[in-house]
Amino acid sequence: MRFDILTIFPGFFQGPLDYGILKRAQTTGQVEVHTHDLRGFTHDRHRTVDDRPFGGGEGMVLKAEPIWDAFESLGMTAKPQRDPTRETVILLSAQGRPFTQALAHDLAQKDRVVILCGRYEGIDERINDLLCDQEISIGDYVLSGGELAAAVVIDAVVRLLPGALGNPDSARFESFGADEVADTPGTADGPPRSTHGSGGLLDYPHYTRPAEFRGIPIPEALMSGNHDVIRRWRRRMSLEKTLRNRPDLLEKAALTKEDEKILRQLRDERNPDSPIKDKA
Ligand code: SAM
Repeated sequence: MRFDILTIFPGFFQGPLDYGILKRAQTTGQVEVHTHDLRGFTHDRHRTVDDRPFGGGEGMVLKAEPIWDAFESLGMTAKPQRDPTRETVILLSAQGRPFTQALAHDLAQKDRVVILCGRYEGIDERINDLLCDQEISIGDYVLSGGELAAAVVIDAVVRLLPGALGNPDSARFESFGADEVADTPGTADGPPRSTHGSGGLLDYPHYTRPAEFRGIPIPEALMSGNHDVIRRWRRRMSLEKTLRNRPDLLEKAALTKEDEKILRQLRDERNPDSPIKDKA
């Protein structure tokens, strides 16, 4: 898989992409990341990439020409002929649609992803119309540039590529995982997985040695050695955490009858003395 990043700060990416899974994927040749300096596609003495906005107002806007020329240098297919199953061009923007795990899975299927990083007030909108297939935001806040967002997108996508993670199940059984849950959670045979498919919920809490830290023992269920008890405890914790931090996810989650029952219990327990406390 190949990423091309168009940016005025190519040096930014020395670091964020050079560790762990991302580094390994590049070393093994599974992933190539190419950065392209937009200033290299300017034709004036000052290597100008920005200009004042038409209509007035504050800030500067990234000019269309350097981005167009940088894009042309990539040899990418023009937008109308592009095969969307293989290639995509992304504009990073606070006005984009939210970046989600589902979108990361979709991008992980492509051979080539081109990412445009805005700066200042953003880029000339004609570039969005002419070149970009999708406009993506990594959250409801405004960054000073698209570079951090590009690193976030690339990280989330690369770890989903086949073989990128040491244990491929790690990407299936984690927060937002879309894997279907068993009809009767906790009854499947075999050792407990890290979970049994989050079904769109948040992951449950994890613990490692020592079994007691600062007077706090790990939850008893995890010491039980009983796979069924462990699965049920993990599912309950996932439901609890999702209810507490992201109740919106419950609307689309794949919930079993048992999950619904646990949720009813958890909601009933939500009183000032309940162990489930809102952090907000
Ligand atoms: N004027 C823009 C607005 O109000 O939506 C904000 C521009 S921002 C200061 C500069 C650049 O940072 C954007 O062009 C975009 O590339 C990037 N950026 C800012 N927030 C982002 C977000 N939430 N997700 C992705 N990229 C973002």
